[in-house]
Amino acid sequence: MDYFGNQIGKLIEELSRLPGVGIKTAQRLAFHIINMPAEQAERLSSSIVEAKKHIKYCSKCCTLTDSELCPICSSPKRDKNTIMVVEDPRDMAAYEKTKQYKGVYHILHGAISPMLGIGPSDLKIKELLARLSSNDIEEVILATNSTVEGEATAMYLSKIIKPLDIKVSRIANGVPIGGDLEYVDEITLSRALEGRIEL
Ligand code: ZN
Repeated sequence: MDYFGNQIGKLIEELSRLPGVGIKTAQRLAFHIINMPAEQAERLSSSIVEAKKHIKYCSKCCTLTDSELCPICSSPKRDKNTIMVVEDPRDMAAYEKTKQYKGVYHILHGAISPMLGIGPSDLKIKELLARLSSNDIEEVILATNSTVEGEATAMYLSKIIKPLDIKVSRIANGVPIGGDLEYVDEITLSRALEGRIEL
């Protein structure tokens, strides 16, 4: 990449580390950024730095937020006795779009994957169990993806939650196998939620 000079090469290299960005896209983005007005480029870079500085995990559900509690956990309108467990904040956003779900969430930030060396202790499971012991939780809905990892995670969680005398359910098979929840349409997600099965 030396033929672009060191600075451009560095920018391209950093951009190409982003998920889904190959070297061609990184080059395109780098040249786009270089051609931006200076203020726009500064706004972009400072929004990255500021987000990184201020965004943290919600102290209850572990989603990303800039305050102690996220807007869903702090809303008086949400049913705090029902927790839907999802893999990441994008899944939560997908369920929010359906406007059907009135409970709260718990974000695991991944799924159990022996292949990738991701075990239960790498996920926000300890935080989930802490919530279950200190609250009047009536139901935990396991809404991890229908992938091998998502199913393994759901099975693992059901095994440790059921002995706590809390209802555990799994979203219905309406979600295509291997489907990433983020890309499933809202009607399918609503149906998967309605047709959930108690484990
Ligand atoms: Zn929260």
